[in-house]
Amino acid sequence: MAEAPADTFDMRESLCGVDKTALDAALHRAGVPDKQIKMRRQQIWSWLYAHGVDDFDAMHNVAKAVRAGLAENFSLARLDVAQAQYSDDGTRKWLFRLHDGHEIETVYIPEADRGTLCVSSQVGCTLACRFCHTGTQKLVRNLTAAEITGQLVAARDALEDWPTGNTSNSGARKITNIVLMGMGEPLYNTDNVIAALNVMSDGDGLALSRRRITLSTSGVVPDIGRVGTETGVMLAISLHAVRDDLRDELVPLNKKYPITELLDACRAYPGLSNARRITFEYVMLKDVNDTDADARELVRLLAGIPAKINLIPFNPWPGSPYVCADWDRIEAFADIVNRAGYASPVRTPRGRDIMAACGQLKSESVKQTAAVRKMAELEAKKLQRPVV
Ligand code: SAH
Ligand code: SF4
Repeated sequence: MAEAPADTFDMRESLCGVDKTALDAALHRAGVPDKQIKMRRQQIWSWLYAHGVDDFDAMHNVAKAVRAGLAENFSLARLDVAQAQYSDDGTRKWLFRLHDGHEIETVYIPEADRGTLCVSSQVGCTLACRFCHTGTQKLVRNLTAAEITGQLVAARDALEDWPTGNTSNSGARKITNIVLMGMGEPLYNTDNVIAALNVMSDGDGLALSRRRITLSTSGVVPDIGRVGTETGVMLAISLHAVRDDLRDELVPLNKKYPITELLDACRAYPGLSNARRITFEYVMLKDVNDTDADARELVRLLAGIPAKINLIPFNPWPGSPYVCADWDRIEAFADIVNRAGYASPVRTPRGRDIMAACGQLKSESVKQTAAVRKMAELEAKKLQRPVV
């Protein structure tokens, strides 16, 4: 019933990834009487997000007529996987093709004690941070809430990460954490991002803990508070420089929202405590922002904010204007930060051989060329280094 004939293009709108308001509207359109909407929504929500079904006929407790009404108007189609890549280190990257032909990337990073899905919020990014590959992409549009949530659903499909059996959503999941650190600036698409985060963290569905979801922003000050009040997820700030003149250059949005305003918004972030800290991301660029004085100033700036510091070795991309700081510099910087009480702050680069590491995502066909792939592999080899 859910499948369209193979030789026709399925014009039905997909319900995969929708939030509760959109699901209610769909039920209404499928002819479900008003007084049944809540009950049907609860049933279908659970099938969609606690069980991951992709066929209306699998929804056994939903009346046949309702299933038929839904299938006539809607599908449960997933994001289209245009390409799936595996890194030698277990990282997986998917290139998803959206209904209008745009493409986005999503990355899965398995670790011993967790599995993190790095989700995109926009096609490309308008902000053009100088060290970021995504910022060089010309095509940009906001993702819908369903397209953002759809990345988690598609990744759970690919990883066979749905609960087995017919009722429980408990037990070990492969995807335990979500980071909004893929393509795009989440707070230039705040409404859709908030809607998607609330679907991902809904206890009757995908049930990701809000404490295990982190939204990273380059510093869109006016929307930072909303993330706390409307979702309760964790916040990460792409700081990258401790002086406005340098941050203006690296993160041009700083000209609009300079460091002091940004840190004031952080201090006011709802629910902060030592158990709920803000992560400050700092990309290590050789001879640009990597001195001991920078490290000391970083510690001074963050005093009084419950904070974690995350040093990110710069991940190169074809034509990037920077190189990664030397390893002994990163260690010296990390030492200063460590001595100030911030533990293990260096982020291990993952998936560099498939251009899946931070800031390397860019969904244009140019990245598929053999030359670019070779460059990525060489860089990945060259930059294999111990990570503290
Ligand atoms: N737009 C958001 C989220 C996506 S970027 C933001 O900027 O926070 C996720 C993280 O990767 C950010 O901290 C970003 O600054 C960092 N990043 C971007 N390009 C990078 C690169 N080439 N090497 C290492 N980190 C990079
Ligand atoms: Fe956009 Fe973030 Fe990249 Fe800056 S670092 S260009 S905000 S994706």
